[in-house]
Amino acid sequence: MTEKEVSVKVQSLDGGNPWIETFTSRTDNPKKEFEALLNQWNIDFPDNKRKIVEIVGNTGKIYCDFHKANMLTVVRNRENYDIMECSQCKLFIKRHGLGQGFNYQRECKPDLVCVECNKQFKSKSGLKKHMDVGKHKTPEWLPDGV
Ligand SMILES: [Zn+2]
Ligand SMILES: [Zn+2]
Repeated sequence: MTEKEVSVKVQSLDGGNPWIETFTSRTDNPKKEFEALLNQWNIDFPDNKRKIVEIVGNTGKIYCDFHKANMLTVVRNRENYDIMECSQCKLFIKRHGLGQGFNYQRECKPDLVCVECNKQFKSKSGLKKHMDVGKHKTPEWLPDGV
């Protein structure tokens, strides 16, 4: 499931100016998701209740959708790790430790990634310059064939 950032206009139940909150939606129904969050908030903070004014919409931000890319845990230089790959931008990251919750959130920008270097650039011109020079270097911690 693709995660995306959604903006919602909320308002205090006591009135006042509405403001914008953003949250990460994991379903196709961000309104329902946010309502559930808000219900919980209103239970936790009964003196500070809020309501939805409107769903402003998708901010256009998407987040990496990581899955495990290696079959077996990698052991290298006395380090143990799994390699997680984003299905959208193809970036790899290391995940240390066994059985730990994995909750790594990063903004996904598939058109700013050099797959060979496993690197995300800040701008398209930065990536283009890098591609023009053509000096790619795969990180040492990435074994071949993942
Ligand atoms: Zn990604
Ligand atoms: Zn590169």
